[in-house]
Amino acid sequence: MEAELERLRAENASLRGQLEEARGAGGGAGRVGPPRARGPPGPPGGPVAGGELWGTSGHGMTREQVSRYSRQVILEQIGPDRQARLLASSALVVGAGGLGSPAGLYLAAMGVGRVGVVDRDTVDASNLHRQIMHPEASVGAHKADSARDAIRRLNASCAVEVHREGLHPGNAAGLVARYDVVLDCTDNAPSRYLLSDACVAAGRPLVSAAALGTDGQLSVYHHGGGPCYRCVHPRPPRPEHCASCSDAGVLGAVPGAVGALQAVEAVKVLTGAGEPLSGRLLVLDAWGGTVRTVRLRGRDPGCAACGDGAAWGPGAVAAFDYRAFTGQEMEEGPAAGVAVLGPGERVLAGDLGGVVARAAAPGPAPGAGEAPAELLGRALREAAAAGRPLLVDVRPAGQWRLGHVRGSVNVPYSSFWSAAQRAAAEAEADPAVRDAEVVLVCRRGNDSQLAARALQERGFTHVRDVAGGMEAFREAVDASFPEY
Ligand SMILES: [Zn+2]
Repeated sequence: MEAELERLRAENASLRGQLEEARGAGGGAGRVGPPRARGPPGPPGGPVAGGELWGTSGHGMTREQVSRYSRQVILEQIGPDRQARLLASSALVVGAGGLGSPAGLYLAAMGVGRVGVVDRDTVDASNLHRQIMHPEASVGAHKADSARDAIRRLNASCAVEVHREGLHPGNAAGLVARYDVVLDCTDNAPSRYLLSDACVAAGRPLVSAAALGTDGQLSVYHHGGGPCYRCVHPRPPRPEHCASCSDAGVLGAVPGAVGALQAVEAVKVLTGAGEPLSGRLLVLDAWGGTVRTVRLRGRDPGCAACGDGAAWGPGAVAAFDYRAFTGQEMEEGPAAGVAVLGPGERVLAGDLGGVVARAAAPGPAPGAGEAPAELLGRALREAAAAGRPLLVDVRPAGQWRLGHVRGSVNVPYSSFWSAAQRAAAEAEADPAVRDAEVVLVCRRGNDSQLAARALQERGFTHVRDVAGGMEAFREAVDASFPEY
């Protein structure tokens, strides 16, 4: 270890010497000591050409580049020729968020010569805990511009290209074709399919990642005969199974770790070295402290995009309706609204005050060890007996603690199925419970509709929800309710 350190120090000193010499040759600064034998001086900053007594592999890097990337160049896995390939390569980072921040920064830091950044969004204060390319001063600025500034500060020799128009079916294949590798740093199903299809159409490998909560995933698609995203996921997940960071939350450093690994995969793909995660999925459970790699199904000869005989070109990508296919919007933001309840089954946020005035105050509090399902059953019984409405907030407990309507009881949506079963059992025992007035509320008025329907399907007769949820409450009633 010591010997290795010593060797690295000596190498560093030698490289520094070469750098000094290069600077001296360019700027004419005085240099102490005997001149070294050297070959014909190239243009300032030109490739290391060798001297009378030494030569190179013909890697073509300048002394500055050798010096700057030296710790990586001396790696057996990289070496000067692969580093030179990196310098001549390009990568497209789609999404300058939690994954794109470390991925884009590391690509530039490691010497990828040209980095494209696609994002049409602006920086929001709630992005800062994980999207570390963006400083506080960038709040309100275009993410693509903020990313460009961050990359330039880190490595001025990296050519950054920003694409503020975002990614859409009309531009995806053309955009992707201009880069050697593509990094999917987006957070929604339609963008994942669009990017994969565009990479198939343009013949580009795709490094795809996702991070949510304290979990992350990573794979490489359409590379080395491996599957594309459609091969592995021929049918999109149902929209209600697609949580986003804004709904489910994310621990800041988790996309950081996964995005950094994306940059590693991109380096493997660009240099043709190592073992890219093609046909494999890396699964990170950061909270449990485990990483495992699972094998994915191989390329599907019947795949609509990359299968035998499939002619998936830019035209097909441009014509495909990704929104209809996945049932989701491509933009980050509120998920497409659920429309389960009719207008007569919904309470306007502006009328919530009237419900609160009639409800029990304070609201039912959980007893020691009382599960949400038991709490709902008891609260329904009490409300029915008192002839008062029961407000049920189905947001996760952490969100409920951030702020909630007075008198409401918290029964998280994740446990609502068992809670509804329990409520049905209460109604079986006491028919008055079935006719209790129940008003459900959630964050945006989607989960609350589904929860209301679950109660209605179990025979409850007087169930409504709050249209637009607590966000509508903040907009229509009280702007001081916390925004999250
Ligand atoms: Zn495929």
